[in-house]
Amino acid sequence: MGERKKMKTRYRRFSLLSDIHGIKSSIGEMKGIGHPKQPPLNKKYTPQEDDPLLDEAWFEKTIKEKLYHHPDNIMEYPYYGERIFEEPLVGFVRGDDPLLAEYKNIIGPHHFTPYEIMQWQAEKNKVPAPEAESLSVVSIIMPLTEKTKQDNREKADWTAERWAQTRLLGEIFSQKFVREMVTDLMNRGILAIAPDVTPMFNKKRYPIVGWASPWSHRHMAYAAGLGSFGMHDFFITEKGCALRAASFVVNLKLTPNREKQADIHANCLHYQGIKCLKCAERCPVDAITAEDAHDKERCMKRVEASTKYCMKNFHIFIYGCGICATGTPCESGIPEPLQNK
Ligand code: SF4
Ligand code: SF4
Repeated sequence: MGERKKMKTRYRRFSLLSDIHGIKSSIGEMKGIGHPKQPPLNKKYTPQEDDPLLDEAWFEKTIKEKLYHHPDNIMEYPYYGERIFEEPLVGFVRGDDPLLAEYKNIIGPHHFTPYEIMQWQAEKNKVPAPEAESLSVVSIIMPLTEKTKQDNREKADWTAERWAQTRLLGEIFSQKFVREMVTDLMNRGILAIAPDVTPMFNKKRYPIVGWASPWSHRHMAYAAGLGSFGMHDFFITEKGCALRAASFVVNLKLTPNREKQADIHANCLHYQGIKCLKCAERCPVDAITAEDAHDKERCMKRVEASTKYCMKNFHIFIYGCGICATGTPCESGIPEPLQNK
């Protein structure tokens, strides 16, 4: 049953103080604190005869089935019973993929490599840190539902309630889901870690990219070949850009199941020289322009301001917008002219 079951029959009052899950989630997202303890590595695990082979097929099947049927993949009142996310996409990146080290130049030196984050986990468990070449990143794309996209599509100023709920409950759920995957692997004696639920996850303003975190799920998804970025900075996949991304690192050699696109903007019409900029038209504060692409600071101000709107209208402690990710040719798939390219 969902953690926020109590919301089934009533709206909470004074969400600034009473939406404890929302407040905890926001602090965790910004400062990396308040997360449950990391699961310990089961060093005494003895492999069993009926243990599954933990290969790419196992990860893909397990993640798809578990996520789709998870009892916490569920909205709260007034949408109680609806799913937050549809069936996910799953991809893999080798821990020694040169692009992951290159992210230190592209995103900034603060961005972790899988080796660095796993070193922290290994030290905590008093075992030697595995080499980068032994590691893999498992990347997960969780698409939003048609109803959520439809509601935001109809908005021109502030986010829709379903979108705001998805932003909050989706964050809480995705962290829980990945933690369960990590716990399962650690119980089987395999080092694993979800970087965004460690105390090292600290969102700040950085010199190269502005507001950013030290582990970008979307950049991991790009490296895994799951899609590329649009003018709005949302990540465009075969299921569109209305999604949430998650990822974790595991001490297993997994082979990528997709080829990464050479162009980081391969799925965006404007970047591919085809007239679009629908996302710019949709943005209520002109934070996207042909000249300057996505103005993160201007966007952030609007998104921050939405917290007050969400508390007043939806009684949850969250911010959100995503207007530019809906009602666009990239909302639910790769824009047609770019498909099969
Ligand atoms: S709406 Fe058009 S220009 Fe904007 S990100 Fe999507 S494809 Fe690119
Ligand atoms: S998310 Fe940012 S860029 Fe997109 S519509 Fe909202 S304010 Fe504009």
